[in-house]
Amino acid sequence: MIKYNLLCKKCELTFDSWFASSKEYDKLKKKKLINCHNCGSLKVEKNLMAPKLISKNFNHKHEKKDLIKYQKIRKRINEYQKFIKNNFDYVGKNFAYEARSIHYNNKKKNKGIYGTASKHDLKELKEEGIDTQIIPWIENENN
Ligand SMILES: [Zn+2]
Repeated sequence: MIKYNLLCKKCELTFDSWFASSKEYDKLKKKKLINCHNCGSLKVEKNLMAPKLISKNFNHKHEKKDLIKYQKIRKRINEYQKFIKNNFDYVGKNFAYEARSIHYNNKKKNKGIYGTASKHDLKELKEEGIDTQIIPWIENENN
């Protein structure tokens, strides 16, 4: 089955119609069996400005733009990650524990820490007056 958006040249009505195939459409058209739902005119044609066609092109352009944007952001995140890896200690899932031990024990550390923490952990840390920063993180597949 194939759906065509049809346009009546006489009254400018557009409507959707189903056909078994594009061949069937051609056949019915030749036999003058396709007419306008509104005025009955036989001057009905496939509407080439079907919204499907327009939105497809639009999305394609959009996706390309988004991809470039995404690559730019990814590059910046990668640079940021490099900086953090060089200047911070990775504590993994112990982030909340380590953050508290620095905060409460006045543990002197040359480096800051980074790691993973749940939203719940972050909320608790915030309530305890411990500053954390959430950064976007991309796992590097080259590592
Ligand atoms: Zn019509």
